[in-house]
Formats: sequence, C-alpha cells, structure tokens
Amino acid sequence: MPATAPITQDFITIPRKDGGEALPNLIGMTRVQLSKALADVGTPPKQIKMRLGQIWQWIYTKGVLDFDQMTSLSKDFRSLLAVNFQLARPEIVTRQISTDGTRKYLLRIAGGHEVEAVYIPETNRGTLCISSQIGCTLTCPFCHTGTQKLVRNLTTAEIVGQIMVARDDLDEWGKEPGAKRLVSNIVLMGMGEPLYNTDNVRDAMLIAMDDAGISLSRRRITLSTSGVVPEIVRAGAEIGCMLAISFHATTDIVRDKLVPINRKHKIAELLQACRDYPRLSNSERITFEYVMLKDVNDSDADARRLVRLIKGIPAKINLIPFNPWPGSPYERSSWERIEAFAEIVNNAGYASPVRTPRGEDIMAACGQLKSATERARKSRATIAKEIEGE
Ligand code: SAH
Ligand code: SF4
Repeated sequence: MPATAPITQDFITIPRKDGGEALPNLIGMTRVQLSKALADVGTPPKQIKMRLGQIWQWIYTKGVLDFDQMTSLSKDFRSLLAVNFQLARPEIVTRQISTDGTRKYLLRIAGGHEVEAVYIPETNRGTLCISSQIGCTLTCPFCHTGTQKLVRNLTTAEIVGQIMVARDDLDEWGKEPGAKRLVSNIVLMGMGEPLYNTDNVRDAMLIAMDDAGISLSRRRITLSTSGVVPEIVRAGAEIGCMLAISFHATTDIVRDKLVPINRKHKIAELLQACRDYPRLSNSERITFEYVMLKDVNDSDADARRLVRLIKGIPAKINLIPFNPWPGSPYERSSWERIEAFAEIVNNAGYASPVRTPRGEDIMAACGQLKSATERARKSRATIAKEIEGE
C-alpha cells in the first residue's frame, strides 16, 4: 500500500452546558455508571435496564456518533439524552499509512493533548496498539515515550475511544457477530504505563470485552507492563487479560538501568507475580518482551540466564529489535546476534518470535510513540536555541 499524506481534520466541538462545563460523556461509562446517569436525568426506574441495553448497543455495536441515530428510542428520550450527555471520541488529527499497511493515528483529546494509537494488519489478525497515558513517568532510556514527561492519565473514554476511532476509520461497526474482524486484538503497548492507570484501563477493557458490545475476548487483549508488581496482581483479578512483561535484562544491575522501576520491584519479585498470575487454561502464556540492544543485553550468557530465570512460568519470549529514534542512546543488535539469542531460547523450548518492526517509515514501531506536538515543540526549542547562540 502506498504511503499517503496525513489527513488533517478539524477540532471536535464538545457541547457544553450553560455554565461552560462539558456534558458527561456516555462513552467510557461502565454499566453501573451509565445506569446511575440515566436515573439522574429522570429515566423511570423500571425502564433503566432496557434503556441501558439499547443505548449500549447503539454505542458499542453500531458505533453511532450522535443520539439522533438511536432510532429505537423515542424522539423525546433522544432529546433528553442530547441535552444532558455527549458521545465524544478522541478526534483524529492525522492518520499516516505505512508502506506495510500499518496505520498510525495521532488523536486529540480534551485539553488539546495528543496521543497515538497504531493499527497493525496481519494475515490472520489485526492488532490495535493503544495508549494509556500521555507520556510516561517512567524513564526507560531506550524508549521514546520515556523522554516525554507525563502529562496525565487517559480517561476510560479516551482509552476505549481509541478502539472506537480505529473501528470508525476501518468501517467496522455493525458487522455480523461471526464476521472476520479487522481490529481483532488489542495490545496496551502504546504510550504510558497501563498499570499506573489501572482503574481506567480496567474499566475500558471491561467495556471492550462486554458481550453486548465490542465483545473482544480477554484472550485477545494483552497488557504490557514494565513491572508494577502490586498492580499486576490487580490486573489478574480485575481484568483477567493476557499479560506481557517488559523484561529486557537478566540481572538486577542491568535492569535497574534499562527499566528503572526495577529499583523498586526487583526481578525476583516480578517473576513471583508472573508465577501467581491467574490462567484460565493451560495454553495461556505470559509474554516476556525483550528489546535487543547491541552489547547491552544481547549476549549468549543473557539468553541462558533469561531461560533459567523464567523456568516453570508458562511463557513465550518476544524479541524486539531495538527501534531507534532521533537521539536515541542505543543501537539495534545485529541480525546474527538476534538469531543466536533466539536459538538458545528456542532450544530451551520457548517460542521466541522476533517482532518484525512495523510502520518504521512512519515512526509507528514499539517505543517510538511520542506526540507530534511534543516533537514539534522540541524542535522549535532547538531552533530557538540555535538562533540564540548566533
Ligand atoms: N509501558 C509499558 C507499555 C508500553 S511500551 C511497558 O513498558 O511495558 C511497549 C513495549 O515496547 C515495551 O516492551 C517497551 O519496553 C518496548 N519498547 C520501548 N521502546 C522501544 C524501542 N525503542 N524499541 C523497541 N521496543 C521498545
Ligand atoms: Fe514508560 Fe513503557 Fe516507555 Fe518504560 S518502556 S518509559 S514504562 S512507556
């Protein structure tokens, strides 16, 4: 597919009450919150369950953009909804399509902030990589997002909204339940640490998994964490999705540097949380992500230590060739090194697919996400400095 120029769209206009306060967004409310919201605007108690079911279906199986499209509701009820609520999604600012078909969306959310989501089409599935925070408080030195300060956590609506925007763009609403899905898998591997925003991530994933709506199976949702151990326990109990660990090093000395949260939760503690992570079937595995950094963590000894450390954990190892970004302090391991590392891991009985970098031409690959305005701001700052220096 040829690369196309980014599409720029207008700002979304968020409806406001007279006082200037934004109307509550029905998107992102849990079933309990939605029931309460309907009761608060005077929906008769006996009707709430039915109305909730209807509204849920319009929002999450039909993807309607405004209340007027909810044609199974009376006109009066639709007006009641319209004066009290909004249906707001993140707005697409730009959409870039890579030569390999990967789509990167730059999305604008309330406050004028920007966040990225990436759609990766494959033969047998389509994976949407979504963000959980704007920026990240953690500072893994190989990660571009880590160089951007945390601006704020995303709301539930902004997290589930990323899935909805991709479905809008791919024209995926209203399909038969058994039809092949374009967005068949979700990975929480975009910007931010999902387990520093566990409540909103949980609610958004419960909405995405709800049978009467988007209806994604828990097995098709993978949450990637750098290792927030206490929250891994909650994720297992309250979300139950698949888990990926950004492991990246086999000794505490190296991991303390590469994944600084390791200074708080050491490798042994992290691995215990992995051992305890609930599994509903024997085929479920924890993914250990391992970014291949030349001469830093890619030796044969590292591969052997890795295998020893995760012994007994049902696991697969995902080797990620480092994706460089402007100014990044590391280099990607050579393909021979990655292959040698993979062979040791394979020989120990672990599947170890090497993650093919996708969307490299549009900086959509793992760890490269960082909002364009942030980049623009930095480059303007650099320009200003240069001028100053003249
Ligand atoms: N904060 C979470 C999820 C987002 S990062 C986490 O750290 O797990 C998703 C994955 O991309 C993580 O495994 C992360 O370590 C990896 N990653 C970050 N920067 C990268 C880069 N430049 N090249 C390759 N992988 C990278
Ligand atoms: Fe944050 Fe994950 Fe990047 Fe580390 S790798 S800085 S935790 S987004």
